[in-house]
This record gives sequence, structure tokens and C-alpha cells, in this order.
Amino acid sequence: MQTIGLLGGMSWESTELYYRSINELVKQKLGGLHSAKIVLVSVDFQEIETLQHQKRWEEAGKLLAKAAQQVEAGGADFLLICTNTMHKVASQIEQAIHIPILHLADATAVRIKQRGLKKVGLLGTNFTMEQDFYKGRLVQKHGLDVIVPPAQDRQLVHQVIYDELCLGKVVDRSRNEYLRIIDDLQAAGAEGIIEGCTEIVMLVQQEHTSVPLFDTTAIHAEAAVERALGN
Ligand code: GLU
Repeated sequence: MQTIGLLGGMSWESTELYYRSINELVKQKLGGLHSAKIVLVSVDFQEIETLQHQKRWEEAGKLLAKAAQQVEAGGADFLLICTNTMHKVASQIEQAIHIPILHLADATAVRIKQRGLKKVGLLGTNFTMEQDFYKGRLVQKHGLDVIVPPAQDRQLVHQVIYDELCLGKVVDRSRNEYLRIIDDLQAAGAEGIIEGCTEIVMLVQQEHTSVPLFDTTAIHAEAAVERALGN
């Protein structure tokens, strides 16, 4: 079994989900007392959030590259950046380490194509919904058609992530807003919805809607376990 490297803490609320699902999957597949080999380095999210909102991406990249080097030094065979948003600096991190990165957008695209879908709605932080590092990769590298909500709804989705979910707050009113936005995306032609932020699954799960959801936390964890077990 390979050792899975996790660059976490963004937020720790979702890193906890990664840790649990990776271990549960290994237990499911190998049985007995088997558990995952993991090296986790968890950053202080306040520092990252400040750099994000001040557009100091280069500095954020440096900080995460250093954390990724600690993951590598700890013996990880490959790295998961446990946030969609910070894939914005994935190449900066990649250049600082010698182990490969299991890119979240790639793992998600594989799953969408396996389901035979082409047009999907993307929910996440404003950075993820509006910039090219994530959406562009889904479109250019994987040939998907990706739509996002209108500006006002994007702002709502973004605020709920930072003001509620990253603080561990799950609010029914926000779930209803998300479900309305998901319905709007479906009406605009989306065949599925990418929960493109690793905390969104805390708020909206498949049981809440008939639109197929792509939970990026679960997808990333599954891809990691498949790789670690050599499938
Ligand atoms: N975990 C979130 C994501 O997947 C947002 C937190 C962050 O900005 O890193 O994008």
C-alpha cells in the first residue's frame, strides 16, 4: 500500500472528512484492521484565507509548497491538495516537490465522464467558479461543458462557504438557497452538479436533490485509495 499525502486544513472541517473516508474505503477494500497510510500536514486556514482575499496567490503558493515538502519528507508517495480553490497554485506546489499531485479536477472529470455526462454546473468559491485554473481545466483538458450560477448567486455560494461551512455551521436556509441554485443550473441545462468545494457536502447531499451530485471530497478520497492500493 502506498502512503497518501494530504495537504489539509483548508478547512479542517473538510480535511476531517478526507481522513475518515480514506480510512473507511481502505477498511472496506482490505477488511480486518487495515487502515490507510497517511501523512497529513494541516495549515492555519486564517493565513490562507487572508492571502486569497488579498490576491496574494504567490505567497499562498509558497506557504503551501513548504507544507507539501513536509508531506513529502514524511514519506508520502503522492499528494492531495485537500481544497479545490488552492489548486490555483497547484503548479507552484508541483515544482517544489518530487512526488506527483493527484489533481482534484482531473479525478472529478473522470467520474463525470464515467457517468456519461457532458454539461455540468459548478459550485465552489468565487475563485473556483470564476477563474480558469479549475473550470478551464475541465473544459480544455476534459472536454466538459461547465456552467456557473449568475453573479449574485455565486456571491451567496461563496459567503456560505467562508462564513458558515468552514466554521462547521450547517444552516437549513443556506441549504434551501443552494438547492434553488442547483435547480436553476439544471434548468439551464446542467445534467449534474460539481460540489467544487470540499465543504459543500456538509450542506447538500444526494438525498436532497434528484440532480446527480459530484462530491469532490469523496471523489478525491476514492481516487487516492484506488491509487494507494494500486488499482
Ligand atoms: N475547501 C474549499 C474548496 O474546496 C474552500 C476553502 C479554500 O478556500 O481553500 O475550495
